[in-house]
Amino acid sequence: MTNSEKKLTIALAGNPNSGKTTLFNVLTGSRQHVANYPGVTVEIKNGLCHHRDQKIKVVDLPGIYSLTAYSPEELVARQFILEQKPDVVIDVIDSSNLERNLYLAVQLMEMNVPLVLAFNMADVAKARGLEFDLNQMQLLLDVPIVSLVARKGEGTEQLLDVVLRAAAEKKARRVQVPFGPQVEKELEKLMPLVDGQLDFARHFGVRWVALKLLEGDQQVLALPHSAELLVTMEQSMKELEKHYHESPDIVIADRRYGFISGACQETVRTTAQSRHDISDQIDVVMTHSVWGLPIFAVLMYLVFWLTFTAGEIPMGWMESLFGWLGGWITSHWPAGWSEHLRSLVVDGIIGGVGGVLIFLPNILLLFLGIAFLEDTGYMARAAFLMDRLMHKIGLHGKSFIPMLIGFGCSVPAIMATRILENRRTRLTTMMVIPLFSCGARLPIYALIIPAFFAPAWYGPIMWMMYIIGVLFAVLLALLLRNTLFKGEAIPFVMELPPYRMPTLRSLMLHMWDRGWQYLQKAGTVILGISILLWAASSYPKISEDKLAGLDKVQQQSAQMQYSITGRVGRLIEPAIRPLGFDWKVGTALIGAFAAKEVFVAQMGIVYSVGEGDETSDALRQRLRADYTPLKGLCIMLFCLLSSPCVATVAVTARESGSWKWAALQYFGLTAVAYAATLVVYQVGSLLIGG
Ligand code: GDP
Ligand code: MG
Repeated sequence: MTNSEKKLTIALAGNPNSGKTTLFNVLTGSRQHVANYPGVTVEIKNGLCHHRDQKIKVVDLPGIYSLTAYSPEELVARQFILEQKPDVVIDVIDSSNLERNLYLAVQLMEMNVPLVLAFNMADVAKARGLEFDLNQMQLLLDVPIVSLVARKGEGTEQLLDVVLRAAAEKKARRVQVPFGPQVEKELEKLMPLVDGQLDFARHFGVRWVALKLLEGDQQVLALPHSAELLVTMEQSMKELEKHYHESPDIVIADRRYGFISGACQETVRTTAQSRHDISDQIDVVMTHSVWGLPIFAVLMYLVFWLTFTAGEIPMGWMESLFGWLGGWITSHWPAGWSEHLRSLVVDGIIGGVGGVLIFLPNILLLFLGIAFLEDTGYMARAAFLMDRLMHKIGLHGKSFIPMLIGFGCSVPAIMATRILENRRTRLTTMMVIPLFSCGARLPIYALIIPAFFAPAWYGPIMWMMYIIGVLFAVLLALLLRNTLFKGEAIPFVMELPPYRMPTLRSLMLHMWDRGWQYLQKAGTVILGISILLWAASSYPKISEDKLAGLDKVQQQSAQMQYSITGRVGRLIEPAIRPLGFDWKVGTALIGAFAAKEVFVAQMGIVYSVGEGDETSDALRQRLRADYTPLKGLCIMLFCLLSSPCVATVAVTARESGSWKWAALQYFGLTAVAYAATLVVYQVGSLLIGG
């Protein structure tokens, strides 16, 4: 086993009054004076102990809360670890005060020192009704933990066993404390610039040195660094300040607390609650095992309700604006100019792009709501709540983060699955992400729901669509994890950052970001496709003699059926008739593959072209005349579940590394959509008659 000639050095670190000196006395058999207040002495006490033929030098460090180099105690303790490089550091933790004590532990983890956590005061913790899932916590923190009652000498044998093992293994850490995408990005920039020859960097890793630089650590700053590193560091700090409106060391500290809070939520059970800060008090309600999920559902509902109620008025304005614009252009169209061009502008562009733009207010409101939930820190709780559920379906709460992003857009959501280390979990998550109803589906709901349902139902039905998507995602994930992507899930800490009141500025920025993306999409992809779809709906022109003897409405319908859209539509109609769809819906669904909003654009174009000159009724009224509420529901259901858009398919192929998975996603989801819609339409027709 270990070489008995060589003496091991272990250092006892920990907060003041966590029981370091008591443990030191037990281990070394000495009778050091136990001082009850910190700051009296900052000297280091040495002692010797033997365990399984191994000579061990034990060092009692002064009590500290953190590893910055501010107080004399911190300086002494840190200096010892940095310079003497003990074989193992035991962090003595007052486990009756776990979260606060873990702050130091996390910093030791960052330093990559061989670490063992001694959960001391186990008797006190027990008396306070605290129960720890030590196995889970060891996995989450990637560090061995031993429970201890130092005052009674309980657990010290086991502690020394674990210490010897840790000294022999010297294994590299697998778990890094995550600091969030912004900080990680800056760390990525700094790490290659940190001189690997520096003694600190060689021993504690470039990541630690880079982190200390971002924290503004004077001691690490004073090391000889290249000018390039210093300049980059300045820029990085400015970036972070700009993003968080807070100095980087505070941001980093917050992240540590978030990490700890998440780890504790998952592994500590309390029978007698003793919570301290406001965030924890809010979390008692928000992450409650019974009420948490209903609260989440209600909050999401409120967001959708807001999207509709507050969005209705500006939506009405936009609708009248485009209606008026189309009418104005038609009536002022110069006599000699091409009628084809007029139809392109009015029916194609205004009917298509305009139809999509109408929903800009709803999009803005939806993202305002989501940004609010995100910025307050609530979304992290939602992910945490889902964690329990996710474990049941063989995924991790971490998968819920990309899924939440999927409510915005599937493309970044699928890219965000990179945070999942396990390939099978990642593929499963990727496959089901399109079921999280994205922003581009919103215009479809916003078009259809008010066409068929009373205002009181707008919110509930929209909410229901989102929930149906989530339910399907859960079921499919369960299926995939038990078939194609079978395997163990790896545990992982869900961070719980403190609750914050979001700044108006950051909310507006988020909202505008999404709104701008929507506008750009409307001005490029949707514009192009609208023109194509308009052409397909207008050409080829039927010859005059075929129209003879038909009245105006019949003529229009004959022309529409003669056009490419009409022909394609009729070709696929037999396949979609069992779902309650006609050829118009069919062509709109094909168009929706390019981008989901195109569904709305295409319906606008089909009706606008078919309508001829009299642009009178709003699209919704036309829909109400042609379809039933059941058909409306089926359209929404199919759009929700079916074939993700082309960008999603492409990004799935890229991120999964194979077109095979993209094809599975595309055809699998479309098949699911078909089956589900078929059942709903057929059963619905039987019950309420079409
Ligand atoms: P230090 O500041 O980390 O060196 O902590 P000390 O060793 O001075 O201990 C602080 C106080 O906690 C002393 O009164 C100890 O008797 C007490 N103490 C230490 N370990 C335990 C334990 O496991 N259980 C209980 N109940 N008290 C302990
Ligand atoms: Mg002491």
